[in-house]
Amino acid sequence: MVWEERWHPLRREWVVISSHRDRRPWQGETVGDGRAMPVPYSPDCYLCPGNVRVSGERNPRYSGVFAFDNDHPCVGPSAPDPLPLDDGPYHNRRADGLSRVVCYSPRHDLSLAELPPNDVVNLLAALQGQFRELAARPEVRHVLMFENKGDVVGVSNPHPHCQIYATNFVFRTIEVEADASATYLVDKGRTLFQDIIAAEERHQSRVVVSNEHAVAFVPYFARYPYETFVAPRTTHPNIASLSSGELEDLAQSLRDTLIRMDNLWRMPFPYVMAFHQAPTDGQSHPGFHFHIEIHTPLRKPGLLKYLAGPEIGGGNFLNDTAPEDKARELIAQSGVHYRSGPSHE
Ligand SMILES: [Zn+2]
Ligand SMILES: [Zn+2]
Repeated sequence: MVWEERWHPLRREWVVISSHRDRRPWQGETVGDGRAMPVPYSPDCYLCPGNVRVSGERNPRYSGVFAFDNDHPCVGPSAPDPLPLDDGPYHNRRADGLSRVVCYSPRHDLSLAELPPNDVVNLLAALQGQFRELAARPEVRHVLMFENKGDVVGVSNPHPHCQIYATNFVFRTIEVEADASATYLVDKGRTLFQDIIAAEERHQSRVVVSNEHAVAFVPYFARYPYETFVAPRTTHPNIASLSSGELEDLAQSLRDTLIRMDNLWRMPFPYVMAFHQAPTDGQSHPGFHFHIEIHTPLRKPGLLKYLAGPEIGGGNFLNDTAPEDKARELIAQSGVHYRSGPSHE
């Protein structure tokens, strides 16, 4: 049992860990895994090769990674001029930027965890190219890459894909992390995320995957059950500057982590995965260490962690599980996906 407050050094806020509360009887809503037996190609899917999207455009018969501008952009060049405002504390501006969709592969049925290792490397390499292109645009101040996976996080299409929001503002979490990293570097003369990795490796019990260039761990200050960080060992401000060796190791640790999550309950594990990269706003962001955060909304099979009073009402997280326990569960899983069969052992 762990019951204490833990400091989240990147967000600079407290997380309340109260694992004794996890055993309380639950009578709330439960959810299914929300996925019927998938098929390799779906004629109704607007992301599958050769199909027509809502814009009327037809997807090419692509074979690898396929990226295109989102037909329903949240920010984009087609955003209208803002409504006129005449008084008060309010102000507004155009929703400028670019929104993209990146399909992992032509296969409608293969999640990131199930893609062959080399395809994950190719995906990350494609994201490096996307970053370089989008970060170079003058209106773009930050490039957020993320995947929502599973019905419970509101995915509109099951075809494995991620999204990119290249925005004219820096997302709040990134702003806080950049500030925390820069301040830590001035105060201590060291990189905050390097110290986090070192602390996790000293402690060992929360490290899920470790290889030469990358590491995956459930952080000491995890806000969600099974929340996992995947990061290169060397400090890079964004994905674009990773060497091919670093990219391969990052891909391996990411894939291995996601496989363990799927294996845990033998179901596609829902998550929100976000790539945290330094802003591209023309400022320097010393100490920012590119990393991937995987936030997982399930506490148990079919049981959601609800955001309620403390999280929505107060803005701080209460985690009903001990990060050490959740890491142990992931570490105990096989690194071979349960759907890949014994021939792949
Ligand atoms: Zn599809
Ligand atoms: Zn982060």
